[in-house]
Amino acid sequence: MTKPYDPNNVFARILRGEIPNKTVLETPHTLAFHDIGPQAPVHVLVIPKGAYVDFAEFAAKASAEEMVDFHRACAQICEMLGLTGPEGYRAITNAGTHGLQEVPHYHLHILGGRVLGRLVA
Ligand code: 5GP
Repeated sequence: MTKPYDPNNVFARILRGEIPNKTVLETPHTLAFHDIGPQAPVHVLVIPKGAYVDFAEFAAKASAEEMVDFHRACAQICEMLGLTGPEGYRAITNAGTHGLQEVPHYHLHILGGRVLGRLVA
């Protein structure tokens, strides 16, 4: 079971404008900004504006409008940041303690601009 949403997590505070961010794209239901500790030349975090702890909660509870908005924003970001060529990119999400999720507000990492390491446990 997903733990309750903490309204004071870092991304909730970014959404309220309490913490600055380098915005890449904002849409009605989605915000995307550069990661503060980039792991690749491109490292963008895409978050829904709604209060969802992780991917499973977002997928289960978000409206169709929110989901379409979120995924179209991701596609637009890939296009804007030059990631749609054959070199590609990686889109990943972490959840919970096993997934080493640091911020308990659902976010997709979009990484690109270099060859990324293989995903290993
Ligand atoms: P997670 O481990 O939860 O999947 O990833 C959280 C990500 O949020 C990390 O990559 C971390 O660098 C990033 N992050 C944490 N705090 C901030 C912040 O205040 N601003 C931004 N832009 N990124 C943050």
